[in-house]
Amino acid sequence: MFNHIVILTGAGISAESGIPVFRSETGLWEQERVEDVATYEGFSRDPVKVHNFYNKMRQSIKTKVPNPAHLALARLQKEYPQKYGATVDLVTQNIDDLHEKAGSTDIIHMHGELNSILCEHCGKRYPYFEDSTPKSECKHCHHQSLRPDIVWFGEMPYQMERIEKLLYRCDLFIAIGTSGVVYPAAGFCQVASSVGALCVEFNLEPSAVGSSFNYGLYGKASVTLPQFVDELIEKGTAKQSV
Ligand code: NAD
Repeated sequence: MFNHIVILTGAGISAESGIPVFRSETGLWEQERVEDVATYEGFSRDPVKVHNFYNKMRQSIKTKVPNPAHLALARLQKEYPQKYGATVDLVTQNIDDLHEKAGSTDIIHMHGELNSILCEHCGKRYPYFEDSTPKSECKHCHHQSLRPDIVWFGEMPYQMERIEKLLYRCDLFIAIGTSGVVYPAAGFCQVASSVGALCVEFNLEPSAVGSSFNYGLYGKASVTLPQFVDELIEKGTAKQSV
């Protein structure tokens, strides 16, 4: 049985719900350069373009629904603590809302959220579902200084202190659909491993940090993850190796 489980998800868990991963050939990301739409410098150069890029993504996720992998994690978060008195924390690099739609709670969105906006003037972040422009006003301070609430390259992810604490006490770390090239998330397995946690990765193929995990379950997360979660809830534990 585990006492503290930490889950990390990346773009791969949402791929089967129709949200393209970072490096896909058909993705929104491929139509723009990362430096233009995912850095503060890009935003300063062309704020209209960057607002529009995230507006389009915000609109596009409205019709997307969670797949069996998101639903399995929501089940794990609810049932494992009830049955075994453990904690199950969910950290995501995703900016979509599919974990919320699946019924997960207290999700740590370390890279921000499409359905949130950040005011550069007063620093407030709040839920936001419309389109934004450089002229949109902050509902708190009324300045025209809103930006997408996304952590761009070169910026500090949210809630890192809390995430570190969770990693340093966990005994099971699960990473799903993450390429292992975007830090600091790519280093989470090493931290969990250093305190003796069992580390399991779910991906189509071994990620860039795949060798840091005890083992990986490779294939579509919508298939591999529900099976793993069912067994975890049923038996309380997971295989130590494959
Ligand atoms: P990534 O796009 O770099 O990698 C996705 C990983 O998922 C790959 O390793 C791929 O092999 C794997 N994958 C693809 N389909 C899968 C499936 N069906 N089952 C299991 N694994 C699958 O994603 P990343 O590591 O999360 O880093 C990219 C950054 O881009 C993140 O920081 C995130 O903020 C952002 N992003 C978010 C979304 C989203 O919110 N859905 C989408 C694209 C990018």
